[in-house]
Amino acid sequence: MNAIPRSLYVHIPWCLRKCPYCDFNSHEAKQPDFSGYGRALTQDLLADLNDFGKVPFRSVFFGGGTPSLMPPEDLQPLFQILNEKNLIDRSTEITLEANPGTRDRGHLAGYRDLGINRLSIGVQSFQKHTLEVLGRIHDTEDSIIMVEEARTAGFKRINLDLMHGTPGQTSQESDADLNKAKALGIDHISWYQMTIEKNTAFFSNPPILPNETTLERTELSGSRILESMGLVHYEISAFATPGEEAKHNMNYWEFGDYLGLGAGAHGKVTVSGEVLRTTRTRHPDHYLKRLNAGAQRHYVDKELLGAECLMNSLRLQQGISYPLFTERTGLDPEKFRRQHLMVADDLGLLMPEKFQATELGWRHLNRLLEMLV
Ligand code: SF4
Repeated sequence: MNAIPRSLYVHIPWCLRKCPYCDFNSHEAKQPDFSGYGRALTQDLLADLNDFGKVPFRSVFFGGGTPSLMPPEDLQPLFQILNEKNLIDRSTEITLEANPGTRDRGHLAGYRDLGINRLSIGVQSFQKHTLEVLGRIHDTEDSIIMVEEARTAGFKRINLDLMHGTPGQTSQESDADLNKAKALGIDHISWYQMTIEKNTAFFSNPPILPNETTLERTELSGSRILESMGLVHYEISAFATPGEEAKHNMNYWEFGDYLGLGAGAHGKVTVSGEVLRTTRTRHPDHYLKRLNAGAQRHYVDKELLGAECLMNSLRLQQGISYPLFTERTGLDPEKFRRQHLMVADDLGLLMPEKFQATELGWRHLNRLLEMLV
């Protein structure tokens, strides 16, 4: 059996303002204790390396919250360990999520100096009124300038997050957002439809969303623009120039392993053929005070592994091959298919001889995934 690739996820849990649609583990704060947080991250990394061994990371991802609030010097101790222990090298994809409302040239240059080589910029929209409805802290200009400043700082790999199906959005407005990304020469876009999640301000006070006809028109027209940019629709919400796919997300979708550091971060580690899930305490204050320090851990029931793997892998246009499925779960793919996916096969939602959605299955992915639950 090949070694299962391992990534590192680092959660930075603070934002300047909570967006009304956001159900992430993000907390409003003006001046969080970033240096204390940086120290807590290094403690947890060392403990995880001790428990799970020193496997070089295929990718590192700083997500949030708003990681671009964190001064580079407070991330330095973490990078020192990563470098000293040869856990990263120049080929490691290291991404940081950045909010255009926090743009700071000094931070961008500092992140590059640390070795961060990819930025994922949370633009969401280039339309002024959409940004206001979404409660974003930035305007259109901030996003454009951030892309320019990121390039000046030496970032060659940039992803833009763009939303569609937002309150009151027309398909023309969504097209305008994608065309703006095209004009900026972006080669990776996460283009996803807004959904109303529990525990959000929008859930308590729902806005009026575009109707089905508008959503369909938006999807169709948006797909054409993305195609005209030469981007391949490689995952349900991800589009990239071939070769520019996000290695970090690919590792999740192919059911690889990852360590999770920071408040509320999750991890997945395969230990002697069994999959261990780790979860850290959610609240940043508890995390900083080292209350319940150390992640909660539980082994995933073997019976659930196949479904968990496919919940990720079927999001990929290419799906997952039988040998890789077996490598990641230890299960017999044909037996799993007979036991759990007969209905999907009868409905023509899956390709033969691998776990890959057909065109129909791709269009009805939620239905396909529900069959696994
Ligand atoms: S900036 Fe991102 S993480 Fe923070 S509240 Fe808004 S959507 Fe959530």
